[in-house]
This record gives sequence, structure tokens and C-alpha cells, in this order.
Amino acid sequence: MPVILIVEDEPNMVVGLKDNFELEGYKVETAREGESGLKKILDNNYDLIILDVMLPNISGFEICKTVRKKGNDTPIILLTARGEELDRVLGLELGADDYVTKPFSVRELIARIKAILRRRENAIQPNEKSNKDIKIGKLIVNFASYNAFSDEGSVQMSYKEFEILNLLWSKKNYTVSRDEILRVVWGFDENPTTRTVDNFIVKLRQKVEENPDRPKTILTVHGIGYKIIG
Ligand code: CA
Repeated sequence: MPVILIVEDEPNMVVGLKDNFELEGYKVETAREGESGLKKILDNNYDLIILDVMLPNISGFEICKTVRKKGNDTPIILLTARGEELDRVLGLELGADDYVTKPFSVRELIARIKAILRRRENAIQPNEKSNKDIKIGKLIVNFASYNAFSDEGSVQMSYKEFEILNLLWSKKNYTVSRDEILRVVWGFDENPTTRTVDNFIVKLRQKVEENPDRPKTILTVHGIGYKIIG
């Protein structure tokens, strides 16, 4: 049974969400402010976290940032305030998986939870590489053997190009933020900038796209990152 943590300070919201989630068959834990929420996230292994942005003590953004910095990749859905476009972009940049804007329908939130849990079940973990030949744009890639070829023959790709492509492919049709790419592919020891990611994407597009100037496979999601359509 998936376990969901709700970090939210409005008591009615907590009760409403908890009841609905339990009806869906999820086990629910709650935290009513930021500090205890963060501690619970770091001390436990939840399947998903519902995280309000405006919280006493530590904001949802700070929590999100800290959790990701510690290498914890539990899915996070942010509850943001209406009309705050910046919140949404910032939240996704800080590593949240999705967001809903208050007021929201509980049905919609549950649909998003299900989508994330399903996608997680199906996702190829970046370090478990598929040993199948996969067609991505005009490229055929085998992530396990680090081979790539096209109609014209073998294609030279660097290790990091393979890693980025594998990460995007493992989350295909979903946006992967530049920060997530940096975190997964470069880790914390090196200090590249998000510009580095952009440069690698340019190189990948030359290998994947029929027309790299008009990409149809590796798309830019402005202000956030990239996604592979597949
Ligand atoms: Ca709040």
C-alpha cells in the first residue's frame, strides 16, 4: 500500500485530503508545519509527498530544495497559490514533480498522484540500463552497451551524452529540469552550470533530430528543462 505524506498547515485541507486518499487505498501520514515535515521526509521512505508551499517554519520550496540536495527523489506534488506562475516554475526547478494550484479538485490531485506512482513503477531507473535497441528520433541506442547508430552507421557519443539521453528517455513525455539532469548526470562533486546542460542538448540534437534546428524529439520546456517525446 503506497504511503503518502501530507505537509500542510490548514487543518481542513489535511482532513479532506487524508480522507480521500485513504478511500483510494493509500496510507496517509501528516505534518502540520515545515520543520516536522522535513524531518519526516528525511527519516522515512514515502511513496509520495503532498507539500504545501506556504508553511510555518520552513517553506515548501526550502523543503523541496533540501530534500533533493540530500539525494532523496521521493515524488513531490506542490500545492501552490492561485496565479503564482513563478511558484510553479520555481517549484519544478527545485525538483518538484508536479503541482496543483489552490483551490483544486481532489479528483484531479488523485489523478496526478496515480500518474506519478504509475510512472515510477514503470520507469527505468537511470542506473538500470535497458539492453534493448531503442529508437530515439533518427538514432538507435542501446544504453547497456553504450552503442548508438543511425541509417548512416555508427554514431559517436560521449558517456555524458548517453547518460543524459537515458535520463530523458526514462522519463519520456515528462519534463526533466536542468537541475535534475545536473544532479543525476554530474552529481554534486562537479560544478557545471545549467549552460553545460544546454550545450550537451545541442550536441544530442545533432545526433537525434532529423533537423536539429527544429527539434521534434528533444523539446525545450522554457524556463525549466527538457523532455523527450516518444
Ligand atoms: Ca499553507
